[in-house]
Amino acid sequence: MLDRLEPQAPDALLALIKLYADDERADKIDLGVGVYRTGQGDTPVFAAIKQAEQRLVEEQESKSYLGPEGDMGFVNALIPHAFGRDGTMGGRLQGMQTPGGTGAVRLAVAVAQRAGVSRIHLGAPSWPNHAQILADVGVEAAMFEHANPDGTANAEAALAAIRGAKEGEAVLLHGCCHNPTGIDYSPEEWDAIADAFAGGAALPILDLAYQGLGHGMEEDAYGLRRVLDAVPEALVAYSCDKNFGMYRDRVGALYALARDAGQIDAIQSNLNALARAAWSMPPDHGGAAVRIVLRDADLTALWLDELETMRERMRRVRQSLADAGTAGAVDLAPLAHQNGLFSVLPVSKEQVERLRTEHAIYMAGSGRINVAGLHGGNIEKFVQALAAVTG
Ligand code: PMP
Repeated sequence: MLDRLEPQAPDALLALIKLYADDERADKIDLGVGVYRTGQGDTPVFAAIKQAEQRLVEEQESKSYLGPEGDMGFVNALIPHAFGRDGTMGGRLQGMQTPGGTGAVRLAVAVAQRAGVSRIHLGAPSWPNHAQILADVGVEAAMFEHANPDGTANAEAALAAIRGAKEGEAVLLHGCCHNPTGIDYSPEEWDAIADAFAGGAALPILDLAYQGLGHGMEEDAYGLRRVLDAVPEALVAYSCDKNFGMYRDRVGALYALARDAGQIDAIQSNLNALARAAWSMPPDHGGAAVRIVLRDADLTALWLDELETMRERMRRVRQSLADAGTAGAVDLAPLAHQNGLFSVLPVSKEQVERLRTEHAIYMAGSGRINVAGLHGGNIEKFVQALAAVTG
């Protein structure tokens, strides 16, 4: 039977990793993979996490099963950072641990489907896995334009999708540091989005995978908090894999906001059943390490410091690119106002290919770059190469 399976196209970004690894040119630049890098090109373990892991090794007495909801100490410790001091919203908000933000998105889509959602509106372009998850769960994807050609957010398109959505529809928005464009809604646009959700039928699904990588932990949560304050119900997928540097340890959480506190147990029981059938329970180690950081004031301060260093480095890279003005046909100025790891450059597939073959610069075929792949030692080369292939 298995011989009936057609080969699937390999994941383009994973294929790019291999090509980059095999390239022997010393000045090669990797702008493909979606991880933070220091100015030296490393993706180190956070010092706060290292210390927490050491404590975990010393203090952990059992690895016996927890349950489908995972480490609730971790899930609850994250609430004030993501949702604000009064984050539990009078008992209407509850979370559970998931295998990364991917697990949280998957569970959000699956539980929304159980609740009657058959169509989810999604800004295009989006993180490619959003569409893959919708297709795999069996929910229709309805696309709207995320950005305007001038590099600003197309909030009108999101508002139209929210206002036009009927019962049985959801709208999925990135909370901050939009992947792949880096283009986020302004606070005023979030205010309008929150009002539109409050006055409409759409279920809000918010995906927060980069909190703290844009303007700060509080600033990056503005939209999420504004929407949650305005609506009766919502689902929030959260990833700690970037802002705690946990990537392969797969640390995430899914939070549900219920119409009233009495409904939260029914929602949670459905989430538990779906998680049980999918992965039974999430991997423990990373969530436990994040819990230790968040329950210790010194480690929390250290983590926030490390996060700030990352954020400021990415801001400096963005500013240097914007200061370069234009590179050939590409206007780099908008990058200064975009957030997080990614931006999309207006380059063709052929130009992306030439950057790789002629200049050893690796980026996604969509024109997405990871700005953290750039630093003082390679920005000039990058700008010159971009000018050479687009000029
Ligand atoms: N949502 C978005 C928008 C993302 O970009 C990512 C990761 N690249 C995720 C969710 C999932 O992150 P992870 O599963 O690695 O925690």
